[in-house]
Amino acid sequence: MIIPVKESGLPECPQKRISNKGMKHMRMIYADNAATTPVSATARRVFLETMDAAWGNPSSLHTVGQTAAEVLLKARQDIAKCIGAQREREIYFTSGGSEADNQALLTGAMMGKKKGKTHIISTKFEHHAVLHALKRLEKEGFQVTLLDVGRNGLVTAQQVEDAIREDTCMVSVMFANNEIGTIQPIAEIGEVCRKHKVIFHTDAVQAAGHLPIDVQAMNIDMLSLSGHKFGAPKGVGALYARTGVWLTNLIEGGAQERGRRAGTENVPGIAAMAAALVESCAHMEEVGAKLTAMRDNLLEGLSKIPLTIINGDTKSRLPGNVNICFQGIEGESLLLLLDAKGIQASSGSACTSGSLDPSHVLLSLGLPHEVAHGSLRLSLSNDNTAEDVEYMLREIPQVVAYLRSISPVWEAIEKGEIHYAV
Ligand SMILES: *Cc1c(COP(=O)(O)O)cnc(C)c1O
Repeated sequence: MIIPVKESGLPECPQKRISNKGMKHMRMIYADNAATTPVSATARRVFLETMDAAWGNPSSLHTVGQTAAEVLLKARQDIAKCIGAQREREIYFTSGGSEADNQALLTGAMMGKKKGKTHIISTKFEHHAVLHALKRLEKEGFQVTLLDVGRNGLVTAQQVEDAIREDTCMVSVMFANNEIGTIQPIAEIGEVCRKHKVIFHTDAVQAAGHLPIDVQAMNIDMLSLSGHKFGAPKGVGALYARTGVWLTNLIEGGAQERGRRAGTENVPGIAAMAAALVESCAHMEEVGAKLTAMRDNLLEGLSKIPLTIINGDTKSRLPGNVNICFQGIEGESLLLLLDAKGIQASSGSACTSGSLDPSHVLLSLGLPHEVAHGSLRLSLSNDNTAEDVEYMLREIPQVVAYLRSISPVWEAIEKGEIHYAV
């Protein structure tokens, strides 16, 4: 198979960001915002301004240092406000979502161990930052229960309550899934955890800036977020830890972040993250409504392709998330052909696309390996337009039909000789 290659090595990406504006030769649709988002104009401006005006070390006592310290304080206040935290000192800056997840899990485990509690509850479809951190804790003697995920991509508060034991120290359930976009009943799970006095952590990396979050009303003890999923640069994130939760350090050193996370802070990145979060939260409702309409159009249009499966609940779902399996084809080939047509999408998460294993998230829904392999995730942002949706609805069915025409199994699937239990 010959896959067309673009003339220049790099896509013709205008100075600032990928968009259709100024793209004379080829339509360029970025629909992989769950993997990362372009840096927003606001975040970029704040980043550059902060680099110029607040380059000091925030731990220095002189004026230059204190200028930077003030930037951090304001960012902490802004982020605390966006997620409903009581105090800005409950926000700890990290290098991103993975670090925040790791620190949260280690903290819950260590707080439990002090009281002789070593049982942790999570789910089968968490991000690897959570699952792999739990693997390590298991090796260190903790017991981990991973809850099954329903066919609709949801876990219930009842499942959590049923799994809680005398020795349970922590529950970690993600706010919204990064592959299938399903939104978990976080407030209900929080209530159960509070009732049983179990620490509750949520990986809200896909939710922050996209869904309303209120850590107090939802009884969340720890929450992870990451800047590059809502328009800030990569390599900066935050961990919310309610007063009374004593974070265990992953990084030892200076007394930054109230002694809980050493290392001179990424001041411009943090300022940009706070600005991007404030901006996203301010426009959440209107952007959410726009994305929901585009998402539903895509889901409806693509599900007309025969033998397709929409993955995850269609209502309790991130506004911009589409995830669908096409029987008889492989997600990787689909992605390459779509890329050649200027559609940047994903099959599962960016983290698993290096491997040939199907996504653990899709397998957790009970999909057979063969079907999980044919997955496509489109994750939209406010930069996408109705024309983008139209273009995708025109091109994707053609590419699927082409791949099926050369698929060794498609004929047998169509005739019903191969039947997958889906
Ligand atoms: C992206 C992502 C992470 C990891 O965040 P990084 O900042 O890339 O380390 C963790 N959890 C979820 C749900 C994510 O989508």
